Amino acid sequence: MTSYKVCPNCGRQNPVDAQWCASCGNNITNVAPPQQAQPQPAPYGQGQYQPAPGYQPGQSGARQQIISSVQMRVQTDEVMPIWWIVLPLVGVLALVGFAAITIFWSGWGWIGIVVGLLLFLVLYAVLVYKLVTRQNEHIKREIVLRTAIINYVREKAREQYKEQMVAGQISTMESINQEASYKEQENNALLFTIMSFIPILNLYVLYVLTKFPFEHDSRWHTFTQQAQYALSQVGVNIMTPSWKTLPRRSFWLYLIITLIIGVFMIYWLYTLIDDPNDHYQAQWAFEDQLMSQLR
Ligand SMILES: [Zn+2]
Ligand SMILES: [Zn+2]
Repeated sequence: MTSYKVCPNCGRQNPVDAQWCASCGNNITNVAPPQQAQPQPAPYGQGQYQPAPGYQPGQSGARQQIISSVQMRVQTDEVMPIWWIVLPLVGVLALVGFAAITIFWSGWGWIGIVVGLLLFLVLYAVLVYKLVTRQNEHIKREIVLRTAIINYVREKAREQYKEQMVAGQISTMESINQEASYKEQENNALLFTIMSFIPILNLYVLYVLTKFPFEHDSRWHTFTQQAQYALSQVGVNIMTPSWKTLPRRSFWLYLIITLIIGVFMIYWLYTLIDDPNDHYQAQWAFEDQLMSQLR
């Protein structure tokens, strides 16, 4: 059911009966239509994509950068299953259990409390380490991706003499990129894990982990709106994926609620696991759109 043939010179799809490429004028009379049906973009969330038809490696440095940073997401954007929440819960149960056993069955209650507390702290620290390293990996990948998208828009605009038309979007994207590069700092995961054992300092760890996802998500959202508009000016049309923005979480409100109702902490930790999951999946939807339209 193939209904086009790809120009070997510029990659443009032309009708099967075309003699000349509609884009570059190359003679394509003898070009055979591809044997397989046109590849469809894979549904997001599978870490897969299909390059645009007519893709030829090495045509554009920026495009190659986009492709490789999107491919990186398989390693960097880890969707953490919700059962990670079990880790600190097991710690709490151990704390209560050890304390109860040693208080009721021996006179050495404090040993049980100490052992239980240590177990809780260790399991909690494992979760913190995981959350911080995951955040770091995503920060690293995204700065490369944003830069590649800016360069790609600039390249396409230059080819088509449309630099003036996208100048505004490019400068906005660049300032978002710059802002992100100093506001979205990687954190030392080991240091943060140690801090999570120490009163007051552990609140700082929670503060950083709580405020990052919303701010990062809004920044990326603004960036993609600019990118989408600029790309449409140079003939790359990306449909808007339905974008579920993250809710803003107030560290101080969550801290106060937790101090009043201790179990609220479980919900709080749940948001730290799941908000980034939602962000990744929304971001992948945009990336899949972009990948399927790259020329
Ligand atoms: Zn052509
Ligand atoms: Zn992101």
